[in-house]
Amino acid sequence: MLSFEHQFATLPEPLWVACQPTPVAQPSLIAFNDALGAQLGMQTRPDDATLAQWFSGNQLPPGAEPRALGYAGHQFGNFVPQLGDGRALLLGEVVNQQGERRDVQLKGSGRTPFSRGGDGRAPLGPVLREYLVSEFMAAVGVPTTRALAAVSTGERVVRQMAEPGAVLTRVASSHIRVGTFQFAAVRRDEDALKALADHVIARHYPEAANADDPYLALLEAVTARQAALVARWMSLGFIHGVMNTDNCSIAGETIDYGPCAFMEQFDPQKVYSSIDQGGRYAFDNQPGIAQWNLARFAETLLPLMRVEGDAAVEQATEVLRGFTARFGAEQRRLHADKLGLAPESDRAVALMEALEIQMHQGRMDMTATFDALTHYAQVLSADTSAHSQKEALLALTTQPAGLTAWLADWENAQQASQQSERLEVMRRANPVVIPRNHRIQEVIDAAVEGDFAPFHTLLAAVTQPFDESEEARRLAAPATESEQVLRTFC
Ligand code: AMP
Ligand code: MG
Ligand code: MG
Repeated sequence: MLSFEHQFATLPEPLWVACQPTPVAQPSLIAFNDALGAQLGMQTRPDDATLAQWFSGNQLPPGAEPRALGYAGHQFGNFVPQLGDGRALLLGEVVNQQGERRDVQLKGSGRTPFSRGGDGRAPLGPVLREYLVSEFMAAVGVPTTRALAAVSTGERVVRQMAEPGAVLTRVASSHIRVGTFQFAAVRRDEDALKALADHVIARHYPEAANADDPYLALLEAVTARQAALVARWMSLGFIHGVMNTDNCSIAGETIDYGPCAFMEQFDPQKVYSSIDQGGRYAFDNQPGIAQWNLARFAETLLPLMRVEGDAAVEQATEVLRGFTARFGAEQRRLHADKLGLAPESDRAVALMEALEIQMHQGRMDMTATFDALTHYAQVLSADTSAHSQKEALLALTTQPAGLTAWLADWENAQQASQQSERLEVMRRANPVVIPRNHRIQEVIDAAVEGDFAPFHTLLAAVTQPFDESEEARRLAAPATESEQVLRTFC
C-alpha cells in the first residue's frame, strides 16, 4: 500500500497544522490513476469502495497523518500574509519506485484552520479540469502535479450556483510554494525560514548544499526550473490563469490548476480566466510574472544569504536577471523542435516570430497549426501528397498569402536541417490532442448530470496526445464559433 512518511512535519509548526478531513455524505469513485498508484507502491488495487473512502478523507489510508500547510502569497499583486491550505490536506509523503519523494494531498476535503471564509470544498467541474489538464501535462512531459484519484462526495457546493462536490487527490514533488517562504518571512521567523530552506535544498536541490552560498544557489536552481517550465507552457499555448506567488511551486512544477486554458486562436494577450480582469496573467505576460514571483522568493532568502545588505541584493538581482537568458535558451530549443529544425538552427527564432504574426493575423488555431505543419513536414520529406497537406494548413488561416510566403521560408530552413530524427522530435513537440476548453466543458456538463463516460473518453485521449486515431482527431478539432468557451472559472 502507500507507505507514508512525514518529513515535512519535522519542520516548525507555524508551517503546518494537524487537521482532520470532514467526512462527506456519499463518496463514490470517479477515477483512480492505476499507473501512478503503482509508481507510488500500490501493487494491488484496492476495491472502488475502499478507494472512495480513502480519497474522500472519510477513512484515511493507513499511515496518513493529515496536515494543512501554511503559506502566504501575492494574489494579483497584493500581498496576503496568511493563505494556507484552506481546503487541502497533506496526507504525507511517499517515496516512489524511482526513489523520489512525493506529496499526497487531498483537495476539497473540508475546512482547515486556514479556510478563512471558504467552505473547504471543491466543485466537481474544477476537479475534473485539474485531473484532465495535469495528466495531459504529464503525458507531454511538462513538469506538473499529478492526479491520483477523483471522488464525488454526494454533497453539493455552492459557487455561482449549487454544484456537485468532489475531492481530488493530488501528487506533487512537494507543495512548497514561493508563498510558503513568504509565510515564514513575513512572520520574521528566521528559524522556520532556515529550516524550510534547508528542507527544500535537501529534498529538491541537493547540489546547492555544496555551493559557496547554498541559499543563492537555491534561488538560481529554482529560477532555472521556473524558466524551463514557463517556456514549456508557452510552447503549448498554456495559460495558467492564476500565477499568484502561492501558486508558484518551488520544485518547478505546474501547480494549482484553476481557470487555466490552452489558447486556441493565437493571441499573445489572450486571457480566459474569469477572475483575471486586468489581464495580469495573459499569455505573453507569463515569463515576466514568473520572474516577478521569483523576485518575491529572492526577498525571503536575503536574510539567509552569506553576504549581507546591498551585496546580497546585488547577488540575488544578478541571479534573477539570468531568468531572461535561461528562458530564451529554452524557448529557442523548443521553437526549433516545434518547427522541425535543427536545435542549433539560427532561423528558428525569426521563423517562429513570423509564424506567430501569421497565426495572430490569420486567426489560426495554435495547436492545429503545429499539428498540420508536422504533417506537412512528414509528407514533404517523403515527397508524396505534399500538396493536400499544404492545403490543409492554408485552410486554417484567413490570410493565405502571408502564410504561403512564410511556408517558403520555412521549407528552405527545413531543407537545411537533418530530416528524419527531427520529424520525430517535431511530432513530440506538437501534440495532436490537447484538453480543449469546449471539450472540458462538455465533460463537466455530462458529469454534473451523472454521466462520466465523456470524462473517461477525453482522459484517454489527452493522455495519448500524439495518437492520430479517428477518435483522437475528433477530439482534436478546434471549437466551432458556437462551441467556443472563452471564460473559465475555478
Ligand atoms: P487558489 O485560488 O485555489 O490558489 O486558492 C487561494 C487560497 O484560497 C488558498 O489559500 C486556498 O486554500 C483558499 N481557498 C480556495 N478555495 C477555498 C475553499 N472553497 N475553502 C477554503 N479555502 C479556499
Ligand atoms: Mg492555490
Ligand atoms: Mg487552487
